Amino acid sequence: MENRPIGIIGAMTVEVQSLIAQMEDCQTKEIARLLFHRGRLSGVDCVAAKCAPGKVNSAVCAQIMILEYAPRLVINLGVAGGVGVGIGDLVIATELVQHDFDGTALGSPLGELSICRGKEEQEIRMFPADRRAAGILAQEAAGIYGHAHLGVIATGDTFVADPEKNRWLNETFGAKAVEMEGASTAQACTMNGVPFAVLRAISDNANDDSPADFPAFAKECAEKSARLLAKALGRL
Ligand code: SAH
Repeated sequence: MENRPIGIIGAMTVEVQSLIAQMEDCQTKEIARLLFHRGRLSGVDCVAAKCAPGKVNSAVCAQIMILEYAPRLVINLGVAGGVGVGIGDLVIATELVQHDFDGTALGSPLGELSICRGKEEQEIRMFPADRRAAGILAQEAAGIYGHAHLGVIATGDTFVADPEKNRWLNETFGAKAVEMEGASTAQACTMNGVPFAVLRAISDNANDDSPADFPAFAKECAEKSARLLAKALGRL
């Protein structure tokens, strides 16, 4: 069997606490004030961490996890704002984009950024998620909850609570969900050549109701995505 763990990253306590609580033979290490929990989940070797919201927090967490634990796959899970999908729905990323990366004044398409390839640089707008992992998560989601959406997830350092911006996210990127960690985790993983997947349950509609919906539904939805991951782990 593969001896490299599956990495699991969530931004908030509610997104990872149930998984960490279920871990067998769990050992915890603190690096950069982040807690990395290594153990077996659903019989699978895993390492899980809470990173706190935002692109920098999630990228730092992913980079440390990759250097310290060499995960064979990194999964970012949790909740997100829905773009044309309902509260409680599951969205599994096919691709991720940083909607707030803006070099348009210099002629770059919105969301396009550069990463280093040694001396060269490579432009990337959409970070492709691991197709196999995304397919397994979608199948398991359909099995447990009836259905799931596969599509683009847009990430930025903004809690989106604006119907105009919601429409714009769909028109500009074809996004189905918006959150604050997926594409930055994707970038860190891509830079290291590590496959990744992003799995989100919709806690709010990224509109005027979000300030009320997010606190009302985040916990329940976070647990929904954690239950799905625990179920899917054995196949990933
Ligand atoms: N300190 C707050 C911060 C939450 S930020 C708290 O802990 O309650 C919102 C988190 O949920 C982020 O991690 C983000 O990935 C996700 N999220 C849910 N709805 C979102 C929305 N409408 N826009 C952006 N991110 C959203």
